[in-house]
Amino acid sequence: MKALRWHGARDLRLDEVPDPPQPGPHEAVVEVSWCGVCGTDLHEFLEGPHMIRTGPHPLTGAEPPLALGHEFSGTVLALGSEVPGIEVGDRVTADPVWRCGVCYWCLRGEYHICPKSGSVGLASAGAFAERVTVPLAGLVRLPDNVTDEMAALAEPLAVGLHAVTRAGVRPGDNVLVVGGGPIGFAVVLAARLAGAAGLYVSEPLKERRERLLEIGVTEAFDPGGTDVRREVFLRTGRIGPDVVIDATGVAALAGQAVATVRRGGRVVLAGVGHGNIEVDMGQLVFYERAVLGTLGYNFDIPRVIDLMSTGRLDASPLLTGRFPLAQGIGVFGDLTADRARHLKVLLTPKGL
Ligand SMILES: [Zn+2]
Ligand SMILES: [Zn+2]
Repeated sequence: MKALRWHGARDLRLDEVPDPPQPGPHEAVVEVSWCGVCGTDLHEFLEGPHMIRTGPHPLTGAEPPLALGHEFSGTVLALGSEVPGIEVGDRVTADPVWRCGVCYWCLRGEYHICPKSGSVGLASAGAFAERVTVPLAGLVRLPDNVTDEMAALAEPLAVGLHAVTRAGVRPGDNVLVVGGGPIGFAVVLAARLAGAAGLYVSEPLKERRERLLEIGVTEAFDPGGTDVRREVFLRTGRIGPDVVIDATGVAALAGQAVATVRRGGRVVLAGVGHGNIEVDMGQLVFYERAVLGTLGYNFDIPRVIDLMSTGRLDASPLLTGRFPLAQGIGVFGDLTADRARHLKVLLTPKGL
């Protein structure tokens, strides 16, 4: 089968590889319909490895070269064990996180922070391929009214849902989202579902701000020309937002988020980042502010599918492009050269 494999930074290849083997007891094999290109994939492409390990992964044993792709939908080809409610031939998406299943965190259901955890498409061969091996425990059967294309968007939306859940957004809250890329967009959609009254976004790219206004955010600020902290302060009765969610992973912006959130408010860091955050202790202690990290999702993908199926969540504005897998290398080049044009792009091995 064909697979778009990461061989190293700036080295993606459309390789001919063997089909996945018969699934082990905790695995399933899925025939891929669509798979989304994630910011993580672009980082691995540009200057990886970051999440990809150069040696064998401690849990899966996989090592590069391997196919990227962890935001997918498709049809079940083979099940390693029986799963209630899922049969071969069913349309599915999957939570792509491999987990050990026996550690302290896995036993508490916090599989997403299992020390050995890793994702399909980073810790094992991914879904930029015709077929992919996925964790059996992650399979989610798709209702008839959720298309394969929309289901491939469930994973990034689950990141937003998890961040908003971590933030404890309540009906009537004022929320500021820093960064209007795919994850910021997903956070906005989830915050609206949680009942946010004022929904503000800070995003430097004009195209993204326009798109955010189209889906109904209260205001989208250009941090280049605006004092976002002051503007949100003034629009919230000189109180400040109840919640600030960072979707950039930029340490300097995380520090600003602490200074921006209201007294007693919560900052949630959803962007994948490193480095020191400069925060005055007094900004936290005297004003009872909380800062939380959030990683990926924890049983959030089935909730996203339910929200889509019941008509509560329209993910379509997130989707800006669909291409054949065979054009994948060019698509990665375009996405890294011009961030303004697209939010979420899907690839299909099946042809358009
Ligand atoms: Zn992703
Ligand atoms: Zn574990």
